[in-house]
Amino acid sequence: MDVKALQYVRIGAKPELREVDKPSPGAGEILLKITASGLCHSDEVVMSYPEDVYPYPLPMTFGHEPAGVVAELGEGVTGVDVGDSVIVYGCWGCGVCAMCADGSENLCLRGMVSPGLGRDGAMAEYMIVDDVRHLVPIGDLDPVRAASLTDAALTPYQAIKKVLPRLVGGTTTVVIGAGGLGHVAIQLLRTLTPTRVVALDLGDEKLAFAREMGAHEALESKPEAADRIRELTGGRGADVVFDFVGIDPTGDLALKSVGVGGAVVLVGAGGGTVKVGLMSAPFDVQVSTSLWGRRKELLELVEMAKRGDVSIETKTYPLDDALRAYDDLHEGRVRGRGVIVP
Ligand code: NAD
Ligand code: ZN
Ligand code: ZN
Repeated sequence: MDVKALQYVRIGAKPELREVDKPSPGAGEILLKITASGLCHSDEVVMSYPEDVYPYPLPMTFGHEPAGVVAELGEGVTGVDVGDSVIVYGCWGCGVCAMCADGSENLCLRGMVSPGLGRDGAMAEYMIVDDVRHLVPIGDLDPVRAASLTDAALTPYQAIKKVLPRLVGGTTTVVIGAGGLGHVAIQLLRTLTPTRVVALDLGDEKLAFAREMGAHEALESKPEAADRIRELTGGRGADVVFDFVGIDPTGDLALKSVGVGGAVVLVGAGGGTVKVGLMSAPFDVQVSTSLWGRRKELLELVEMAKRGDVSIETKTYPLDDALRAYDDLHEGRVRGRGVIVP
C-alpha cells in the first residue's frame, strides 16, 4: 500500500511529498500511525548542508518530533499495546555505552541516529520506531500539543536543568530567540525558578509573544540590548544567557550581557561561536553547549504538560501543506511551533 511522506530527495532542493511503501516493523520495531509531527529549525540547517558535509541517507523522510498511535508491533515487542498514544524520544543511541547506560542517549559515544535525522522520520502517515524504549506514552494529552515536547521542550529543559542551581531569587536570565525552543524555555524558567526573564528577538510581534509566554522584559535583539540588560541588573549583567539562535552576533550579545561568574549556554545551531578569552569576557564565565536531552527528562515533561506547567503554542498544517509550513518557518511566520497533522 502506498502512503505519503515528506522526503528530502536532492541536496539543496526543497523536500518533496512522495508516495512510499507503507513500512513494516521488523523484529523489535514498532509501527506508528503518525498523529502529529513538529517542524524544527534544525531541518533548515540540514537543508543548508552542501553535498560534502551532508551526513544522512537520501531520500530521507523529515520529522524528529513525532507523535503517533501504535499501529503494529514487530516480533518480540512488549511494553506497549496497539492503540497506545505515544511520542517518540528522538535520540536513538546504542543503548550500551556509558552515556546510554546513564540515560544520555543524546550523547551516545557511538553516535546516535534520529528519526528525520538519519532514519525516516515523522513527516509521513506512518513511521518505524527502532525500540520500545524510545516510546513515551502520553495518555489523554493532545498529540498535536505533545509532539514537540520531544525536542522544542526537551532541549531547553535539559539546558535549564544544567544551570538550575544558579537561578535563585534575584537573578536575571536572558533568552535569545523566542521561537520554537525559546518560547518553551521562557515558560520553563518561570515554572522552575524565580529568575527574572529577559527575552531577545526581532520585531514587535515576536517580542509581544515572548511577553505572553512569561518574559518579564522583551528587547529587540541588537547590540544595545546588552546595555539595557546591564542597566536592569544594576551594572552586574545577567546570571545566565541561553542562546537559541547561535550565530556570531548572538554569541557576541551573550558575552556582552552576561555578568562576572555567569553562564552562557549555546543551544542554537546557527554556525556561530561564542568567542571567550580571559581578558575579552567577564571573569569566571562558564560557556557550554547543550544537545537535546535525556529520555527520563521527556517523561518529566509529559507529566508537566499534563499538569499544565508547560504548553506548546502550535500552528498546524496538513501533510499536503508541509512545504508551506517550512516556508513559514523560514520567513519567521510561526508563533511557537509548526506542527504537521497527517
Ligand atoms: P525557530 O525558528 O522556531 O526560532 C528561532 C527564533 O529566533 C525566532 O523567533 C527568530 O525570530 C529568532 N531570531 C532569529 N535571529 C535572531 C537574532 N539575531 N536575535 C534574536 N532572535 C533571533 O527555531 P527553533 O526550532 O527554536 O531552533 C532554534 C535553534 O536551535 C536552531 O538553530 C536549531 O537548529 C537549534 N536546535 C538545537 C538543538 C540542540 O539540541 N542544541 C535542538 C533543536 C534545535
Ligand atoms: Zn530539532
Ligand atoms: Zn550509546
